[in-house]
Amino acid sequence: MKASARAVVIGGGVVGASVLYHLARIGWTDVLLLEKSELTSGSTWHAAGGMHTFNGEANISRLQKYTIDLYREIEARSGQSCGLHPNGGLMLAATPGELDSLKLICSRARYLGMETEMITLAEAVQLNPLLDPRHFIGALWRADGGHCDPSGTTHAYAKAARALGATVERFTRVRSLAQRPDGSWNVETDRGSVHAEHVVNCAGLWAREVGRMVGIELPVLAMEHHYLLTEDIPELRGRDREIVNTTDYAGEIYMRQERGGALIGTYEPHGVAWSPVTTPDDFSMQLLADDFERLAPYFEVGFQHFPALGRVGIKKAVNGPFTFAPDGNPLVGPVRGLRNYWVACAVMAGFSQGGGIGLVLSRWMAENDPGQDILSMDVARFGAFATPKYTAIKVPENYARRFRLAYPNEELPAARPARRSPLYDRLLAAGAVMGANFGLEHALWFAPEGVAKKETPTYRRSEAWPFVRAECQAVRRAVGLYETTNYGKYEVAGRGARAWLDRVFACKIPRPGRLGLAPLLSPAGRIVGDLSIACLAADRYLIVGSGFAEEFHLRWFWQSEPGPDVFVRSAASTLTGIAIAGPRARELLQRLVRDDLAAAAFRLFDVRETAVGLAPAVLTRAGFTGELGYEIWTTPDYLATLYDELWDAGRDLGLVHFGGRALSSLRLEKGYGSFNKDFRPDYTPGETGLDRFVDFTKPDFVGRAAALAERAAGPRRRFVVMEVEARDADVIGYESILKDGTAVGYATSGAYGHCVGKSLAAGYVPCALARDGERLEIDILGELCAATVRREPLYDPDGLRLRG
Ligand SMILES: Cc1cc2nc3c(=O)[nH]c(=O)nc-3n(C[C@H](O)[C@H](O)[C@H](O)COP(=O)(O)OP(=O)(O)OC[C@H]3O[C@@H](n4cnc5c(N)ncnc54)[C@H](O)[C@@H]3O)c2cc1C
Repeated sequence: MKASARAVVIGGGVVGASVLYHLARIGWTDVLLLEKSELTSGSTWHAAGGMHTFNGEANISRLQKYTIDLYREIEARSGQSCGLHPNGGLMLAATPGELDSLKLICSRARYLGMETEMITLAEAVQLNPLLDPRHFIGALWRADGGHCDPSGTTHAYAKAARALGATVERFTRVRSLAQRPDGSWNVETDRGSVHAEHVVNCAGLWAREVGRMVGIELPVLAMEHHYLLTEDIPELRGRDREIVNTTDYAGEIYMRQERGGALIGTYEPHGVAWSPVTTPDDFSMQLLADDFERLAPYFEVGFQHFPALGRVGIKKAVNGPFTFAPDGNPLVGPVRGLRNYWVACAVMAGFSQGGGIGLVLSRWMAENDPGQDILSMDVARFGAFATPKYTAIKVPENYARRFRLAYPNEELPAARPARRSPLYDRLLAAGAVMGANFGLEHALWFAPEGVAKKETPTYRRSEAWPFVRAECQAVRRAVGLYETTNYGKYEVAGRGARAWLDRVFACKIPRPGRLGLAPLLSPAGRIVGDLSIACLAADRYLIVGSGFAEEFHLRWFWQSEPGPDVFVRSAASTLTGIAIAGPRARELLQRLVRDDLAAAAFRLFDVRETAVGLAPAVLTRAGFTGELGYEIWTTPDYLATLYDELWDAGRDLGLVHFGGRALSSLRLEKGYGSFNKDFRPDYTPGETGLDRFVDFTKPDFVGRAAALAERAAGPRRRFVVMEVEARDADVIGYESILKDGTAVGYATSGAYGHCVGKSLAAGYVPCALARDGERLEIDILGELCAATVRREPLYDPDGLRLRG
């Protein structure tokens, strides 16, 4: 066995084999895969091999398409067949909500260039004559997808990697990992030691154990999963082509042809976790005992929806375990605090996603950048809140929803509430309908007394619409209160703080008493954060950003190597906040603050450490609504008092609560983009318009060369806000934007602008189309809606209200 390698990949399932292949393909040929048993011996060997491009996230869909297209390449390089059956996919809807979700998939597929269309049920029956159309109301067909041979595909990756110079060692178990002072690893195996610069955890069912080797507990859990293989089905005899792989939303069923019979699998609502704490060391190429009693009612639904399957016998049942993260997407990337340790695990659709994961991880390892936005697969989307118990509760919830596209207004209930701010009970008492962000409860909207605190999951406007409207209007008319505890907060202090911030952030670092908007760029000049920096003193700063990106940004800061004279820490749980916004915000605040808050004395983006009523606080004049606004930061022990005092002081001024939904509407009326939705690592400063906050005169900052090059060449596309002639549904995200019938971009977020009386959408279009008044169309749930580009904010274009 080799004594050293540039990278050791632990695990020879489909994911490890793909990572090995992609590392070799990118030029890292000195790479070694260690597999404790035979290749495929974890989850991979017994998979059903289904492959598809379906994902709620466009970037993951794109990587799934890459995976499926890659199989021809690895077949050619390896001479090994992947056993491809590229027979496409059919998705069936039984309810209007499911039908909307198919239409949304179709809209998204247009810009992604995927051949997808809504078809009639009669056409669906042509593609799969086994389905009983009486159970369905609509269907989507997609050209991409089908199924492959799991073993052949894994061996094709491995052989193709070997042909490029990579090495595979089977029957070699990694027992422990020890880091050397230079950041490289001693990989101890039962066949000796290997010295590796990097290690990659692709251990699938054993990902937790390989995580524990370095002291981390990854949020991964395996679930038991059943599928059945039937005897030959007479209806399939004599057909010249296979039926199309079919997903039945309502039945939670997938089925496809397997030789002369069918394969049918179900994601039952009460799934069973497998080996919840530790995966048995000696488990290899094994199946689990069938549990037909538990599964019978769910397969029964399948036999009703596909009656021919119920008329033939069951030839074989497969029950095997495979792993999930709490949200069902993979865990990929580097882990904060661990040099040269990478993960590619919790991959529940290895044959759709394995190739894409190998591609982005190899780039990330070789080029220090995944090459595209993969926020939704990034291991850093989970933080400390993803405890083992959280994972144990969330994974079964996700398993039960495997075939559902999440409704945009849907908040999943499991493992909640986990993180609560001191205002939680007060906001609930005020009618708050809560969502969870990074495990923390936060108010989405407020139901007035007598109104049920719930919403029907829908892709269209919900019953919350009039109440969100009232919140928006009250903010613009008087003053509103919004809890900001769910923002990401970081403290940076020390003699070296300013110099470090100057290098890491692209903006001018504000001087004491001021706040600045602060884009964070990757070395490739892409937007990895859109934060604000408040300078409390020359050596003390408060940074605020997206709550969901807390771990992502902490990893970024850690990778940026703050020196010993810089102290960086998360203030997620040590700092809490309230924002007030609206024309009467100053009047309200002045009742609790001794400092003079007059416009000239406390200007937009001023910062002060002061007292607001009884609470010591950091006060900033900033906000996201476009109104005169303040953000007040205090420690959790004062937050309830601060809230009570604000509430008492504001009652006669018309103070109202507002939630996240209202904020989304208010900010779009002002044309403000939001990180995660509109600003993501796919976009650049020029495209987003954040270049106006980039200090190009600074001699050095991360991403400078790329940002300068973009400034010289000009961006290719631009972020715009559009007025949309929508009927009863607003843009959700990733819908295609069309010009003369051709998809030219996609929408990134949408909302109804309650104070401008228009449906609004944000998105990216080519620069030539980013002109005020340009007429475009957006495919919203299958309806082409006229959309007009508006370069000026629709609300208060001169910012007079903001400046107060
Ligand atoms: C019944 C069933 C049906 C499925 N159907 C589909 C489907 O239709 N389509 C689809 O895309 N996916 C399907 N899947 C899921 C698919 O199997 C997984 O997504 C995929 O196999 C995950 O691959 P992996 O490489 O991450 O993990 P694994 O296949 O579990 O591989 C991990 C490997 O790591 C090795 N290993 C672990 N620890 C060590 C160590 N310490 N030292 C050395 N080696 C180690 C293991 O031996 C194992 O071979 C199905 C799964 C099941 C159970």
